[in-house]
Amino acid sequence: MIQAIKGTRDILPEEAGKWQLAEATARRVFRRYGFREIRTPIFESTELFARGIGEGTDIVSKEMYTFTDRGGRSLTLRPENTAPVVRAAIEHNLFRRADSERLYYIGPMFRYERPQKGRMRQFHQIGVEAFGSVEPAVDAEVIEMSTVFLQELGIPDTDLAINSVGCETCRPAYRERLREFLAPRLDELCPDCRRRYQENPLRILDCKAGCRRFLDGSPTLLETLDTPCRDHFEAVRRCLEHLGVPHRIEPHLVRGLDYYMRTTFEVLTATLGAQNALLGGGRYDHLVEDLGGPSVPGIGFASGLDRLILSLAPGAGEAAAGPDFFVAVQGAASFDQALRLVRDLRRRGAWAEMDSNPGRSLRAQTRRADQLRARHILFLGEDEIRKGVLTVRRMEGGSQWEVPASDLERLMGEVSLG
Ligand code: AMP
Repeated sequence: MIQAIKGTRDILPEEAGKWQLAEATARRVFRRYGFREIRTPIFESTELFARGIGEGTDIVSKEMYTFTDRGGRSLTLRPENTAPVVRAAIEHNLFRRADSERLYYIGPMFRYERPQKGRMRQFHQIGVEAFGSVEPAVDAEVIEMSTVFLQELGIPDTDLAINSVGCETCRPAYRERLREFLAPRLDELCPDCRRRYQENPLRILDCKAGCRRFLDGSPTLLETLDTPCRDHFEAVRRCLEHLGVPHRIEPHLVRGLDYYMRTTFEVLTATLGAQNALLGGGRYDHLVEDLGGPSVPGIGFASGLDRLILSLAPGAGEAAAGPDFFVAVQGAASFDQALRLVRDLRRRGAWAEMDSNPGRSLRAQTRRADQLRARHILFLGEDEIRKGVLTVRRMEGGSQWEVPASDLERLMGEVSLG
């Protein structure tokens, strides 16, 4: 038997309501802040990610699904979507038309990680990118929007952590201080972190193999920010306070992608265990330029849909359990009339079903209506045809009444649709 690949999963109909709810909530909330949807391809040239995310990152060095196509090009299934959105915006001149473009995306991403609860190899992100402003008020606006999104989804116990990772002017000083601090423990670091120590010690703050235990008492990024970065960070915090967004400073918060600078943030949840980050993001003022575009700053975040779904309340997004109507017939004439009745009910927006086998007994038809958990049965037998009516039975409580067969509006008014 062929099965789904490790780290991928099928989203079955029972769960689809939750996915639809999360996506609809995102669209509704993001629209209020002026974001418009963009859909980019699922694979891109490998170079886009190598340049955009950074060669030394875990994502690029270990986690990408990269392959050579039949034309000999190196392609990669997107591990994230900021670089592709920037590529598309440059390619289609979106920055020339409006230097304050605001875009969002929804779709699958691919990373070769070790699968566990909340961590998949094909996972799904909803993300936003706000281009065109370096102002701290925009950082606060995007962060505030991310919290409204989670609130409107009804996700409890969230915790917003923010930090600043500075810029290319002040970060080298921090790297040096961190190296000095870790030098006596260098031999105890994991092999990856020993390499990171040389190449980019900031990555040690993000180590998944336990090296973070050596960071107690280590210097923090915030202590080494230069004045413009410190002012920016303070202004973001003031704005968040002004907007009533509770947050805490997490001095060791860094993100696994090289393009971030200044503001970084994450929303965690208490309910998910080890993979507890619901969303993460930050500012990337040089990415557009690095990918060959104009000098346009940006800030955004990506939220893991799979984790949002795991955090939703049990009944959230549940669709109606069964049809609004099951039409039960008796006799050949009523079968033909029922075909049209079902069609007309559907055209009016109701979920309507009938048995497609004209020879089925009335008992079998009512049993089927029960199995489907239909909310009403409409009987259409010889009696009803003669009188020009339908007999309606409400399954809950069993009450029964007649309505004129020609007046579906009245029927629809007398029942509430699921
Ligand atoms: P990142 O793109 O690494 O900044 O991640 C942003 C968000 O995507 C995280 O906070 C998670 O919610 C989600 N995410 C990242 N990687 C995975 C994964 N392998 N499986 C499920 N969700 C993920």
